[in-house]
This record gives sequence, C-alpha cells and structure tokens, in this order.
Amino acid sequence: MRFAYFMPVNIFLLIFGLACLWSTSSLKTFAETSTFKGSGLITGPRVRLKSQWVGLREVSKSIPILVMAGHADSQGLAGAGTSGSAVDEKGASPMDLNISDELFWNLRVRDSIVKLGLEKGLKISSYNPNNRNIQDGNDPRTNWSVGARHVRQGGYALEIHFDAYGEYGFGSGLIPAFTRKLNTIDESLANYFGRYPLFFRGGLGAPRRGIRILEIGKLEGKLEESLRDPNSREETINAISMQIVQALIAGIEGAKNSFTQ
Ligand SMILES: [Zn+2]
Repeated sequence: MRFAYFMPVNIFLLIFGLACLWSTSSLKTFAETSTFKGSGLITGPRVRLKSQWVGLREVSKSIPILVMAGHADSQGLAGAGTSGSAVDEKGASPMDLNISDELFWNLRVRDSIVKLGLEKGLKISSYNPNNRNIQDGNDPRTNWSVGARHVRQGGYALEIHFDAYGEYGFGSGLIPAFTRKLNTIDESLANYFGRYPLFFRGGLGAPRRGIRILEIGKLEGKLEESLRDPNSREETINAISMQIVQALIAGIEGAKNSFTQ
C-alpha cells in the first residue's frame, strides 16, 4: 500500500518538473528573439546582459518626447555607427555613400516614429543636427546637447540606434539614462525591446546626459534584409515605428499595462 501511495507522488513530481522545464525553455525562446505580434517583424536577438533596474516613476500624459537619430552628428568620426552585415560581411553597397547604413535607417525610423506618434496624439518631435560631422560633443547643435536640454526641461529624449552585427553587438533593448528617476516609459520600452543594464559600457555619452538609447536590433539577418529589400522596406520601417509608438503610449498610460506581448 505504501508503495502504491508513493508512485503517484513521484509521477506528479516528474510531471511538475517537466512542466517547469517546458515553461523555462519557452521563456528563454521569448527572451532570445522578438517577433512582434501581428507585424511579423523580426528584430533578432534581445540583449541578454544582467540588468536590474525598474522604471516606476509616473510621467505626465503630455510629456514632450524628442526623437533623435543616433550618429546623425558624428559621421566621419569613430562614432559613425555600424555599416551593417550586408556591407561589411557580404560586400553590398552602402545605402548612401555619405553616411553609415545605421544612420540611414536611424533617420528613417526617427521620422516614421514622429509621423505615427503625432497621428496617435503624442506630443512628439524630432531633432536633426544638419551638420553631419560636429567634432565637439558639447557643441550646442549635437544630439547630446539638444537632448540634454530637452530632458532638463522635463521632456523625454530618445535616440534611435541599430546595434552592430555578429559578436560586436548585443541585441535589441533600451539603454537607460543615469538617473534614479527611471520612469514608466523606460519600463515599457524595456518590456517591448529588452533591458540593457544601467552604466552599460561604463556610461555612454547620451545616458550620462539623461538621453535614452533604443537599440532596435542588430543590423544583420532578417531585420537588415527586410529593410534593404525595396519590396518590404516601408512595411518594415512602419512595423518598427509602430512598436516604438505603442511602447511609448503604453508607458505614458502606466507601465503596469505595457507588457502586452
Ligand atoms: Zn548606434
């Protein structure tokens, strides 16, 4: 009788154990790649670095959001942005000979976010440092200076980036600003795209100035292919921007409701 009683407990534990394993592995799959519901957009791997911050501070519903294109003021310098896998590894022509492929896409996504954001009722604008090669990071015309000013005035400043391909990049995610006041927009973007640690790379120039960096994904594979293919380009830019706008809206409404995937 004792034996008969023992067996079902063991079987229960076995099933329970298998169920735990299954749920862990499906969580892992979710954490590794982001495919956004409905859009079919694949942004590739998410960042997998250890990160512990949480954005709890509530923001005003009318918070002004400034969107900037990463590397827009630093072409020709070391910080020009990634050329992407297609150009560097496969010998494809750059999208525009004068700028890095990353900036080419950063600019397009920036403009698309602002267009869609305005349609959705966000108080959102962009900044374009018309000079593509400003040597001094503290020049008043750089993304850093304009973004820092926007943050000091109570706004939210977001710089769009694509991460480097292969071993040089980490994947999609939000690099937060150096502040104890991380807010529900930060939380929402991290939930949608991934969460970089505070003090990533010892403190990048933008986060030190209160500017948030969004790495959309590594410029490689399906993401880069669907951007470069003229037949899927607009659709891809639109899908990326729509995800960002949705994350912004969910963040403004409160991070508790933002985890929609
Ligand atoms: Zn970048």
